[in-house]
Amino acid sequence: MISQWPTPIHELGRLGRHLGLTLAAARDDLLSFPLASSKVRGLDAHLASLRTIDAVVTNGGIDSNHCRTLAFMAAERGIAVHLVLHGEPDEVASRASLRIYTELGATYEVVAPEDIQSAIDLRRSDWKQACRRVAVVPGGCHTPAAAAAYRDEAIRVFDDWGPDVVVVASGTGAIQGGLVAAAAQVAPTPRVVGISVARDVGRGVGPVRAAAAWAGSPDAAIEFRDEFRDGGYGRWGKATARAVELGWSHGLPLDGTYTGKAFRALTDLAHSGELKGRRVLFWHTGGLWNYLSSAIADPPTPGRKRSRG
Ligand SMILES: *Cc1c(COP(=O)(O)O)cnc(C)c1O
Repeated sequence: MISQWPTPIHELGRLGRHLGLTLAAARDDLLSFPLASSKVRGLDAHLASLRTIDAVVTNGGIDSNHCRTLAFMAAERGIAVHLVLHGEPDEVASRASLRIYTELGATYEVVAPEDIQSAIDLRRSDWKQACRRVAVVPGGCHTPAAAAAYRDEAIRVFDDWGPDVVVVASGTGAIQGGLVAAAAQVAPTPRVVGISVARDVGRGVGPVRAAAAWAGSPDAAIEFRDEFRDGGYGRWGKATARAVELGWSHGLPLDGTYTGKAFRALTDLAHSGELKGRRVLFWHTGGLWNYLSSAIADPPTPGRKRSRG
């Protein structure tokens, strides 16, 4: 099967030796798309699953990979896009994201979390009255088409590299659900460890299970770990910051919001001995823009030495 968005697989020999395991990364941050993340594959598949549309509405944080990727795709296709955003519009990094939306021809509004749904509904009905064929794309692209697309590419990657264990950042769970369904279709079945970036197990497992079911595996066991969330979405502590530094110092760009939490979990599992001698695949979901946002907000002190892992 020809893959629309082939994920490059990079062996990470030096970093793997440092951690005592055979390590590779599935690099969705390197898909051929501006500021790429896994969302590229999910959103492209979701848009392809819709009937003819000429306008889309969605929601997300100001720096959201979901919103930025959708704005790019809408501009490519000549579809109108309206973004209902939450966050702090006056922060330097937010201003860069908002600027990009404007360059892409998207419109947006920044609202309080409790007003997101009504803002979406209002824009949809306005556009419908203007006879536009409008689709509302679920936040984070947690949709059946996205989960199936993540599954299809993961089957190809798992067949190619043969991991024993796969570690991935998990938010709404669409990516993890796809990976879990892929694991059920290859032999031997790898263990898929989802590292929550926001939700606790109680809230987070259901949406992962739903995504796995959409991708054809309703009964798969779900390993969704919530002990690496630090302060919640977009917040992180020292251990995650150290994992981010370890990645960068080995040429692997990570961010605190998504990939750094997953990579920190991977290093913890490695240090506990659980991964000894295993072939471990780190599914890199993207996040360079998230890193840049935090770096702009918090530049390093001049002259301060970075510790090396
Ligand atoms: C959205 C996103 C995730 C989480 O994906 P879900 O399908 O919501 O679990 C992980 N990493 C990055 C960089 C993302 O943008």
